[in-house]
Amino acid sequence: MKVGFIGVGNMGGPMCRNIIRNTNHEVIVFDLSADAVKACTDLGAAAGGSVADVAARCEVVITSLPLPRIVEEVALGPNGIAANAKPGTTYIDLSTNAPATARRCAEGMLAKGIAMLEAPVSGGTARAKDGTIVIMAGGDPATFEAQLPLLKSFSGEVVHCGEIGMGSVAKLINNMLAFCNSAAAAEALMIGKRAGIDLHKLDQVIRNASGFSTGYGNMASKAFKGEFQATFALDLAHKDLRLALEMADELGVPGMIAPQVMNLMRMARGMGLGSSDSCAVIRVYETALDTEVRA
Ligand code: NAD
Repeated sequence: MKVGFIGVGNMGGPMCRNIIRNTNHEVIVFDLSADAVKACTDLGAAAGGSVADVAARCEVVITSLPLPRIVEEVALGPNGIAANAKPGTTYIDLSTNAPATARRCAEGMLAKGIAMLEAPVSGGTARAKDGTIVIMAGGDPATFEAQLPLLKSFSGEVVHCGEIGMGSVAKLINNMLAFCNSAAAAEALMIGKRAGIDLHKLDQVIRNASGFSTGYGNMASKAFKGEFQATFALDLAHKDLRLALEMADELGVPGMIAPQVMNLMRMARGMGLGSSDSCAVIRVYETALDTEVRA
């Protein structure tokens, strides 16, 4: 089968390379970055000339793109997938979107005889690389079943969450929780630093005790080294949390915690950290208190 992969950045790149390694599919990639394309063609993928070219040549077209407006442009724009793919093609979007974006894309695809699955992912670049990423899919059950072997070729856990939109619902809720944990970890580590405890001892306790979370683990690892080069950019985390807060607002759910984390992200972005890693929110505490959490 010919599989197209559009957007082979921090997440799409390693997932695409796992499809190349783990299946016999012919993979055709397209990205605005030549380096990102090369990292896939070096492993045996072919380079597509454009979104339209990939869409026209493939039976399944996958995207992993930064922002909902880019997803809509690539999916439904005049030079996009719906306008160029053959009827009977399946489109799978791995990006993090609002549920409404996924539904609009699915409707646009359906009008052209193209089935769509939304399949946002969680686990960060490490699990994208080792093939254990979690996929939360939304869409028609028959389309899901048909694409399950392909999804399993780069994922350790694939959950069909329901109709189109429900994958995005699961993803936004998951990320809201992860960002809250991560922000709490930044605050906790700063308290530890100021209290004078050996941060490696504190870390050993937390990693084995009830305070641990993936958000804590990422925050402590990056803060201790002072390495905030993006594996998950703050700008993308901010986009995810904004979408989660919009969903909470539409549903009338009060926000006691997540809106505070949004403020923390706004401060960090205001400090020019948008393209740094999402864990750079700890820099807000570090700058305010003139104290770094390094160990
Ligand atoms: P990224 O910026 O590293 O990669 C996106 C890629 O898309 C880039 O290589 C860029 O050149 C390419 N691109 C942008 N516009 C394009 C276009 N019009 N046509 C073709 N290519 C285009 O971002 P990422 O971190 O890989 O995130 C991708 C998606 O996955 C986002 O929706 C993000 O929220 C989500 N996500 C990211 C992580 C993470 O840890 N980084 C985890 C889970 C989900």
